[in-house]
Amino acid sequence: MTQSEQMKLVLLYAMNEIGGGGKRHTVLQYINDNRYWYKNDTNDILGTTRPSELKWRNNFSYERQHLVTAGYMKAGGDGNWIITEKGKEYLNKLIERARNMPSGEDHLFTLEFYQKLFSTTDSIIPNEEDEEAHYIAQIAAEDMDSASVLDTFSNEPERKRASRISGNRIVYPRDPSVAMRALGRANHLCEVDSSHISFLRRNGHVLYMEPHHLIPVSFTDYFGVNLDREQNIFSLCSNCHNQIHYGRKEDIRNLIAKLFFSRAQEICSILGREISIEDMYRIYGVL
Ligand SMILES: [Zn+2]
Ligand SMILES: [Zn+2]
Repeated sequence: MTQSEQMKLVLLYAMNEIGGGGKRHTVLQYINDNRYWYKNDTNDILGTTRPSELKWRNNFSYERQHLVTAGYMKAGGDGNWIITEKGKEYLNKLIERARNMPSGEDHLFTLEFYQKLFSTTDSIIPNEEDEEAHYIAQIAAEDMDSASVLDTFSNEPERKRASRISGNRIVYPRDPSVAMRALGRANHLCEVDSSHISFLRRNGHVLYMEPHHLIPVSFTDYFGVNLDREQNIFSLCSNCHNQIHYGRKEDIRNLIAKLFFSRAQEICSILGREISIEDMYRIYGVL
């Protein structure tokens, strides 16, 4: 990545972290205080174009102009630096590239920033478990009776939704009503084996099952489509669900194969491309 791309990454990242942006001074101060860039107030010199200002600050203003021209930041001379939706998509791409930077390339962003780009979980499916736990709790609180039942689902690929940044991660939304329809479609039975037992939900009408996105939502950027779709969500008993996340490799492979082949056509259809069982194993790190 060039110096210019790394600056864009740091700038967009910082704006996203502070809720989309703020005054120019606020954004630059945030970058300075978090030591995101190798130059900062304590080690840089005054510039020549704007003699009253430190060089690194002026350089970020220069990058800001490019980001505005490209539509990644809002235009306007009101002193506000704001990231656009298009800018967030671009930020996703830059983060992906930064994570995969060849070791020979120079990092001009600091180690502090570099560490932020990586999550430190030992999860087999990166970033998936934390998001899922919150979402399952949300669904438990919903009234399952009110879930609308759809007989048919469009299998066309959908555009991915707007993302947000949570902590150091890019997160795509999960809609509880989509999960409820997916569970309803499976008649609230485990799709690994419908004889798997569970308890009754609070409403007393249906069995408690957990929704699992077969292609993890965290792979949204990889596929470039919305993965929070009924076709991609399987109804699993707690036991099977835990096993698919925390089980032995060979057991995970068996579970994935069973689920994938039961719905391969629909899954490929919403992806808009073919995907093989080997690809699925790769996603889960069990090839
Ligand atoms: Zn899951
Ligand atoms: Zn089960």
